[in-house]
Parts: sequence; C-alpha cells; structure tokens
Amino acid sequence: MAYGMGNQPVIVLKEGTERSKDKEAQFNNIAAARAVADAVRSTLGPKGMDKMLVDSMGDVVITNDGVTILKEIDVQHPAAKMVVEIAKTQDIECGDGTTTAVVIAGELLKNAEDLIEQNVHPTVISNGFKLASIKALDVLNSMAVNTTSDDIEMLKRVALTAMTGKSVGGQKDYLAELCVNSVLAIAEKKGKTYLVDTGNIKIEKKTGGSIDDSELIQGIVIDKERVHQRMPKSISDAKIALLSLALETKKTEVDAKINITDPTQMSMFLAEEEKNLKSMVDKLASTGANVVFSQKGVDDLVQHYMAKAGIYGARRLKASDMEKIAKATGANIVGNIDEIDAADLGKAEIVEQKKVGDEDMTFITGCVNPKAVSVIIRGGTEHVIDEVERALHDAQRVVGVALEDGKVVPGAGAPEIELSLRLADYASTVGGREQLAIEAFGDAMEIIPWTLAENAGLDSIDVIIKLKTAHEGKSHKSYGIELESGEANDMIAMNVIEPLRVKTQAVQSATEVANMILRIDDVIAARRAPAMPPGAGMPPGGMGGMPGMPGGML
Ligand code: ADP
Ligand code: MG
Repeated sequence: MAYGMGNQPVIVLKEGTERSKDKEAQFNNIAAARAVADAVRSTLGPKGMDKMLVDSMGDVVITNDGVTILKEIDVQHPAAKMVVEIAKTQDIECGDGTTTAVVIAGELLKNAEDLIEQNVHPTVISNGFKLASIKALDVLNSMAVNTTSDDIEMLKRVALTAMTGKSVGGQKDYLAELCVNSVLAIAEKKGKTYLVDTGNIKIEKKTGGSIDDSELIQGIVIDKERVHQRMPKSISDAKIALLSLALETKKTEVDAKINITDPTQMSMFLAEEEKNLKSMVDKLASTGANVVFSQKGVDDLVQHYMAKAGIYGARRLKASDMEKIAKATGANIVGNIDEIDAADLGKAEIVEQKKVGDEDMTFITGCVNPKAVSVIIRGGTEHVIDEVERALHDAQRVVGVALEDGKVVPGAGAPEIELSLRLADYASTVGGREQLAIEAFGDAMEIIPWTLAENAGLDSIDVIIKLKTAHEGKSHKSYGIELESGEANDMIAMNVIEPLRVKTQAVQSATEVANMILRIDDVIAARRAPAMPPGAGMPPGGMGGMPGMPGGML
C-alpha cells in the first residue's frame, strides 16, 4: 500500500490480491523450489529409489526418472514450476541429467538463502553465481575426454551409465548395444561432426517375449497387417504408394436421395459403384505400385481387387508412420488418386508381413534411405515395455549427444568435486562479496556426490573427504565414488561416463533458474478463481495458474 498526500492510503491492487515482498517472497520461492528438489533427490544415481506415481485417473507409473516424475506431479507454486521447467529443458537438450539439474538448483538456492540471511544482497549472489557458472564450464571442458564414432566401446559405456538405476533388469548390455547401433545407423556426418536426430529411430512396442527379444530393424516397421488374406505376404522390389485418401466410394456432400424404381436400375447402380472402385485399383496398378498404404479406410471390394492384382495393402496408418515411410522410401503422400503417377512411388527391397510375438506387423526393409531404422521393444508387461522405452530413448539421446559433441566426462560425482575445488580457488581470486557467492556455488556442487553416497547408504562426509583427497592431493580429476565399496576410484576406468553436455547443461540451467528466483523480490498474485466443480471442462492441471502463495508448495 502506498501513501499519498496527507497520508491517505492509495489502494493500487484489487481486493483479495495476495502479495509478499522482499525476504518473505524470496524465502517462499526458495522453499517451494527446494521442495521440488527434495522430491526427486532420493532417486539420484544407480542406487536411487523409485517413485510410484498415481494420476487422477488411477494410472500407475513406477520410475526413477526425474523428468517423468516432475511431469506427472501437479506442481502449483510458480517458483516450483520454474524448477520443473529446467528439468524439461535438460531433457530436451540432453535426454539425461534432469535430477542432477534440479538437485543442483535446490542446493544453489539453499546456499543463497544462507547468504541472504547474512544480508548479502540477492543481486550480488546472482552475479557471483553467474561468474561461477562461466568458470564451471571451463573446468568441465578441461576434464573432458574425446570420443568418436569408432569408439563403440566408449559409446556403449555412455549408454550403460545413462541406463543405470532404470528398472530394465539384467538386459542392460543388450540394450546398450541396441542403443549404440541404432544411433550410429541414423547419425549423419556433417564434415567432421555428427548430427543425430533420434526422432528418426522409429520405436514400435509389442507386449510379450522378453526384453532381449527387442531388435533393431534396418527399415520401417509398422503395427499393421495386410488388409486381405489373399494378398501376397511378401513383395520384393516394392513400389509403394502412400495415400492420404480413402479407397472407398465417395460419400456425397449433401444427403442425396436416389429413387430406384426397378431392379435393373439397382444392379446398374451397384455395377457403376463397383466400376469406380475397380478403376481406383486399376489406376494404382497402372503406376506400377505393388504396395499401397492408406491413411484412411479401404473398401472390401477394393481389397478384393488389390488382392487379385497382387498388391499388398494396409489401411488406417498413423500420419506419423506415413511420413516416416515417405522419408525412408522416397514416396510422396498423395491425396488425389487421379494425380498419382510412377514418380510418387517409394522404393524398398522388401515389404512383408512378419510375426512379432503372436501379432502380425509390416516390415519395410532395404529402403532407399539407409538411415531409416526401427526398434521393436518387447517385454513381459506394458509397464516393463514403457520403462524400457524410456530407458532406451534416454540412452539414445545421450549417446547421440556424446557423438555430436565428441566429448565425455567421468561421472559418479567426479565433475562436481572438481568443480567444488576449482571454484574455491577461483573465488579467492575474485574477492569482494561475490567471493562468498562463488564459494557457495562451489559448495553446492558437492550435493551430487553427497546424494549419490547417501542414496547408496554410505557416509556422505566420508565420501566427500575421500574424493577431495584424490582430486586435491593427487590431481586425480576423474575420481568419483564407487558405490559398492565407498572408495574413490577412476570413473573412466570404471566405465561410469557421461556426455560433457549433460553436465554443462545441468550447471547452466540450475544457475539460470536459481538466479531467476533470487531476483524476484515481490510476488503479486491475483485472487484465486473459485474452484470449478468437478468435470467443469477445465483441462487437467489447468487451474494451476495463480496459486495461493505462502505455504502452497507442491
Ligand atoms: P539424472 O536424472 O540426473 O540423470 P540419475 O538417477 O540418472 O539422475 O543419476 C545420475 C548420476 O548417477 C550421475 O551423477 C552419474 O554420474 C551417477 N552414476 C551413474 N552410474 C553410476 C555408477 N555406476 N556409479 C556411481 N555413480 C553413477
Ligand atoms: Mg540419468
């Protein structure tokens, strides 16, 4: 409330608006952000615990993947939402390191809170954090090791590290190999570097079998069988037509009524319809097509004529599958049957129907574009398959990132301990009040080895001391914590290896969100809209716009 002339209060904000200022606002925001970090902390590392998430529909997800957890839980507080956002950014940029980013952000804010209590201004803290994060990138770069596409063993280790802690049973080696092979199959070489778009790896899931029945297919697999039993099961030298139209009699736009007065007219009408349908197949056959995929329906009669003409057909394909086939075989998706010609057809060596478990799928192999690959994921239950899909997807992203940047770092707390020590050195060269913030930043990094040790049931203080001794005394930069023994060891030799980008991105996003939260000194929230009655047409979580501030955390 401001005061005008004669000390009359001037009311600026609407009645019911909640407001918190300065330290109160900062402490509220920090508490909310830390609550998010605390929620995922116990999942960090290979010994991390899982979370069972039950959504409002009663669906259950069991995972220890940071971003999955944060996406599923409905976070209300605006500062908490900002922290959830960095998990998403981390996931988009690297496919891994989400828990790390969030836990570091929480610790940065915890240390910042101590400094605010000692009356260090948030702007000073935020400047110090910025300086520290720039230095941190240098330190991380200096401890990175080079890798290339020839170094398949190294890439496999990167995949394995990304999958540790995921509940994919004893098949990690098999999946790591599948992961590296699929990534190498789609990696595009641009000069000296690689470009990896893991979106080009098509994933099909089929319940049944076991995880090591999962396989990599050099081509496109779609979860469709041919529409008619009499169609050939396999076509070699396939010429593929992709249609976004229905192979059915056109429905008239308006409801037309046809008056038929005698039976000959009826049969004429049917004959006409049949002729139209047959001419569609004739048209397709005239282009040389021997495989037809339609995004829409295919009439029974058309199926019959296609079978007669020896054409393999499948219907109701997903738009995304149509696009993948187009890209893989060089076909154009055609919307008007009269316009299709031979140039629109895609090419593949073989299109065939094969069994995956008990079900039939269509395999398109020997595509013109050799970078078209699919992975069929198998597993006992849907939960298993979903967790394998997440693990494989993340590992593919991580291997892709390692390949793109050609740089990896040891894991298991090695980078974070190195950061803590080097930032302490750096702080003393900066001096002033920022020095305190840089030191606080360095200390915050220790939360990673600390939590890894804690989650493994080890003595965290003891572990930190061992790591610091190894890094400081013997300059063993790649020493991290071996969780089985609790000893410091060389993580490159122990095969705990992560892409450099996972670490740099985590440090950058954590710094950004901490600084954003620190710079807020005033939270003005409109009064909450009254709760909607259940089922009043709001999207799930759609009420989370402006929360009641104090207290409301997760
Ligand atoms: P995030 O979501 O941050 O990737 P994870 O639960 O995957 O979280 O844990 C990642 C951390 O676990 C990294 O610091 C990584 O170096 C460490 N880590 C992975 N495998 C091992 C291992 N075998 N021994 C020790 N630490 C490991
Ligand atoms: Mg991970």
